[in-house]
Amino acid sequence: MPVAEKKTEAPSQFTPYQPAPGEEYMNDKQLAHFREILLGWKQDLMEEVDRTVRHLQEEANNFADPADRATQEEGFSLELRTRDRERKLLKKINETIEKIDEDDYGFCEACGVEIGIRRLEARPTATLCVDCKTLAELKEKQLGG
Ligand SMILES: [Zn+2]
Repeated sequence: MPVAEKKTEAPSQFTPYQPAPGEEYMNDKQLAHFREILLGWKQDLMEEVDRTVRHLQEEANNFADPADRATQEEGFSLELRTRDRERKLLKKINETIEKIDEDDYGFCEACGVEIGIRRLEARPTATLCVDCKTLAELKEKQLGG
């Protein structure tokens, strides 16, 4: 049975950060806010990975009926893909937490501008500002034909 699309593509619920007027970008409070989001997300993902692995094991033990085989194999490859995606995302989250620890979080890797709290809340692992991201995607499209 194919697994439903995961909800772990993005962090779960959190309270959006409300910076005080004139508050410094990526001060300790903001860094702590994003660390919390990332840690919560990581937790969700790791539980999801556990579930995927358990499901794979259950399916492996359930190969009794050959009629179900095709469906099961379909489910297998889907889950393996899901696992691969989860693994990559976990790696990315860990790298992002490291950046927070090194006080090197929230600035565009290409041009150095502030990525922005709202954008980071929507995509905590973002390393490019909107402009650079758009540019990168355009280049990618051109290269891909
Ligand atoms: Zn940029």
